[in-house]
Amino acid sequence: MEMDAQYFETVIIGTGFSGLLAAIRLKKNSLDDFVMLERGSNMGGTWRDNSYPGAEVDIPTGLYSISFIPYKFKKKYSPQSELLEYTNYIIDRFDLRKYAKTKQTVAKLIYNDGEGMWHVEVASGERYVARFVIDTSGVLANPKTPYIDGAEVFSGAQFHTAQWDHSVPYEGKRVAVIGSGCSAAQVVPAIASQVEKLTLFMGKAQWIIPRADRNYSSVERFVTNLPGIRHVRRFIIFAYHEVRFIAFRRYPLTANISKFIKSLYARNLRKNLEKYIDDDKLRQHMMPDYELGSRRVIPTNRYLPALARDNVDVDISGIEKITPTGIRTKEGEDIPLDIIVYATGFFAYSNMKKALSFQVYGSGGRNLNSEWEVEAVSYKGITVSGYPNYFKVNGPNTGTGHSSQLCYMETMVNYAVKAICAVKRDKSIKAIDVRSKLQNEYVTAMKRDLKLTVWQTGDCTAFYRKNMTGEVTSLSPESVLNFIYTRKWFHLGDYNVLRWAPALESSTEVSEIPGDKEMHTGDAVVVVEA
Ligand SMILES: Cc1cc2nc3c(=O)[nH]c(=O)nc-3n(C[C@H](O)[C@H](O)[C@H](O)COP(=O)(O)OP(=O)(O)OC[C@H]3O[C@@H](n4cnc5c(N)ncnc54)[C@H](O)[C@@H]3O)c2cc1C
Repeated sequence: MEMDAQYFETVIIGTGFSGLLAAIRLKKNSLDDFVMLERGSNMGGTWRDNSYPGAEVDIPTGLYSISFIPYKFKKKYSPQSELLEYTNYIIDRFDLRKYAKTKQTVAKLIYNDGEGMWHVEVASGERYVARFVIDTSGVLANPKTPYIDGAEVFSGAQFHTAQWDHSVPYEGKRVAVIGSGCSAAQVVPAIASQVEKLTLFMGKAQWIIPRADRNYSSVERFVTNLPGIRHVRRFIIFAYHEVRFIAFRRYPLTANISKFIKSLYARNLRKNLEKYIDDDKLRQHMMPDYELGSRRVIPTNRYLPALARDNVDVDISGIEKITPTGIRTKEGEDIPLDIIVYATGFFAYSNMKKALSFQVYGSGGRNLNSEWEVEAVSYKGITVSGYPNYFKVNGPNTGTGHSSQLCYMETMVNYAVKAICAVKRDKSIKAIDVRSKLQNEYVTAMKRDLKLTVWQTGDCTAFYRKNMTGEVTSLSPESVLNFIYTRKWFHLGDYNVLRWAPALESSTEVSEIPGDKEMHTGDAVVVVEA
């Protein structure tokens, strides 16, 4: 059903942490003519969707939290429920619910060069028009469920960890978990003691590293949230994680430290495998033959003990097919099952057809989805040449393998809002579009830096790399400090400035061009400053 368009100065897509951050920053700058479009029926994001048993953060909440929004977390590594509580606390504290429209699945973004406006089409027929788009639709938001031969004939329940079906009881049932990444390492120990039988279909070995988790006492929660103390604590956690980056990126002076860190983790994993895994073949399979960090490391102390349980089996032969009653392994064994859980991860930038959940048409009708399929490029992971006034949070090569993604997200959101402020400040500016030469230089330098990381040189797959070309598209080769520093200031000079036509500028009817709703359908001649 075609509906009348609704006009806003800014459309934010998504209501995860980065969407909330964008809304807070816009409000703070008195730019509150915005709407947040969310495909879910509630606001949220990662911690609304990933409600599977055992879901929790793998970076301490002292750092995996928004720097200026303290919260009295009960645990060092919070479970999903507490992170969802934190999300709702932010929404209510900043009064963001009134800006959100839920059940609005964005299907298409189309930039109209003449108007200098983005037309946003939603699957249910609503249309929005906005001058700026802040795309916070997430990078690990689109679950990847591989098709396995026979899946459609299975008579039990099957679902992805990010779409956990809470109406299906798993207690006393025969459950298969497919996958061996972070979600599998969390869900297996969470349900193992309650199911009748659990079979883990394990893929590649993972770097499993120790984790010092604990509950905070009420005194500690109070004290560590006091201003000053909170900042010092956050800095210590930040520094600890930042040092780990040395293990992932080769700096000339730190090669020996890097080797030392890796050897410590290898020794620890070997020792724990000896302790918990009796089967020689499985123990060997579980010792990674690739560099530490090539895939996301898994900090857990509960996974290996769970695998050692009598009611838990691990299959490394692979899946031949799914049958009506279970899974047949490549060794010909039939495993009877009631539930199949896909802990198989997300698309990220590994598959560009699925990574963006909507089509983006920029200047002159160019299509971001097909361009990124060839090469996922951007400027600083935030803007893309040919897509004026479009800001992508968590764009290509902005992921972290060693620290909190929230540090990166805050930086990207701040940059986007600074850019919007700069455009608004000069009323003659219609839009900004990053200079393609500068973008190319940025991409070249970034790729050169990637060659110094384990993600490019190690045997790294998972969501870090693009399926087709093997290029690393998800992770940033920068330390967090460098990432923040190089995006702290917004330079208008990095952008082609598209100006309103002089005739419009002098029009007496127009008091304010940027963001003026009356102007949204007006035509203007584009002047490009190259
Ligand atoms: C299971 C899991 C565990 C993680 N653990 C960690 C961790 O320990 N440490 C860490 O640093 N990072 C972790 N991450 C990364 C995590 O993605 C980020 O930390 C952060 O939560 C991302 O926030 P976001 O707002 O950018 O995206 P999201 O939280 O993914 O939010 C995106 C929002 O956009 C909405 N959306 C998507 N497409 C559309 C559309 N077409 N129309 C409308 N709305 C749309 C989605 O519904 C969602 O609400 C984890 C991710 C997952 C999935």
